[in-house]
Amino acid sequence: MAKPKESELFEQIMRKYIPGRGITEKVTIPDRVTLERYESLEYYKDQVYRCGKCGQCRYTYQNANLARSCPSGELRKFESYYLGGRNLLLWGLNSGKLKWSDALAEILYHCTLCGNCTQQCQLEGIHTYALEWLVAAREKAVEEGFGPMPEQKRYAQSVEDEYNPYIEKHADRLNWLGDKKGKLPEKAEAIYFVGCTSAYRQTKIANSTFDVLSHLGKDFTVMQDEWCCGSPLIWTGQVDIAKKCVEHNIREIEKTGAELVITSCSGCYRMLKEIYKDKFNMDYGFEVVHSPVYVLELFKKGELTLEKPVNKKVTYHDPCHIGRHMGIYEQPRELLESIPGLELVEMPRNRHNAWCCGAGGGVKSSFKEMASFAATERLQEAIDTRAEILSSACPFCYRNLSDAKEENKINIQIMDLMELVNMSMKT
Ligand code: SF4
Ligand code: SF4
Repeated sequence: MAKPKESELFEQIMRKYIPGRGITEKVTIPDRVTLERYESLEYYKDQVYRCGKCGQCRYTYQNANLARSCPSGELRKFESYYLGGRNLLLWGLNSGKLKWSDALAEILYHCTLCGNCTQQCQLEGIHTYALEWLVAAREKAVEEGFGPMPEQKRYAQSVEDEYNPYIEKHADRLNWLGDKKGKLPEKAEAIYFVGCTSAYRQTKIANSTFDVLSHLGKDFTVMQDEWCCGSPLIWTGQVDIAKKCVEHNIREIEKTGAELVITSCSGCYRMLKEIYKDKFNMDYGFEVVHSPVYVLELFKKGELTLEKPVNKKVTYHDPCHIGRHMGIYEQPRELLESIPGLELVEMPRNRHNAWCCGAGGGVKSSFKEMASFAATERLQEAIDTRAEILSSACPFCYRNLSDAKEENKINIQIMDLMELVNMSMKT
């Protein structure tokens, strides 16, 4: 058989690797590196070692004009804070050439686990598994007594005491419901899993989601005894406390007899949909769906009418937990485009290239400068599109972007997708 020309080979490689398949999509292509997920740092040793420190992961070179990808590295401007540097540190730990220290742990925690770097790196093992070892490194840091960061330890204590990381009373969890609080049925076909951020901080999102579901006439309820989903714990290496939340929530959901769990927080969604099953090996019979996906489906079936025009220009920020981590890119956009009058414009870094809002991975509590830096850059990118609204589908992104908006007096409206749907439903 004739050998393919070099240009043909290049063409084949490009077709195969670009634009990537999403970092958590479970695909098996015969010559792909196939490893287990949720393993120890040691398990990924060989892949970590493959990093060539080329620095390609610093730029979103796929359709986004080599824009920067890593909020951690761009703020600190030091190699250790980019993925290549982190890989070198982890290789040092794995090979015994480096010892654990507070300084090293600080670097490993100064990262939102957004996955933009891993999306950009086209080395098979790194592209698909680097997030696994970045998380495994935190579990190891906790084991070695160098993690989590003090603020993360504090919020974990709050989860142990009051089942939320905001140091709020568990008894106040349903206060956002007002009068409706006492009228919730104990059993229903579906559950709205609210999550701590919407329950205690971004209550507008909880109320809008509740209103949309009520308007749809669905048989749903909110659990009286919902706990933190475990997301802020698992990504900071605090697995044992996360496990208690996982077990409790599954038990409580099952008590309601619900077959469907609807989330409005992307962190909760990823936990319930993927982590509960795959990391904690929990077996449960209900389906989990993120609110924009659920609502879009009903809209397509004709069960929902969006009639009131929202005559504005909107841009959409992809939350890392539903975008890069779970592959939900198109449905939120489709839903926005279904709202009459709303014009969707894209930021240059969108979908798999989206710049992280800066809140995740325990960063908002422990590295405030980074959280603010990342959010401010995202707001500027949104402003540059001339959009009047920056929309997203995650209360934690909403919260961090809103804080940066206040801090910098930036003039753009931040709205959750469910708020926009709610506005358009009401005539
Ligand atoms: S992670 Fe990939 S892109 Fe980044 S430095 Fe290593 S090999 Fe290069
Ligand atoms: S996961 Fe995000 S913040 Fe962390 S190193 Fe990669 S791009 Fe930077």
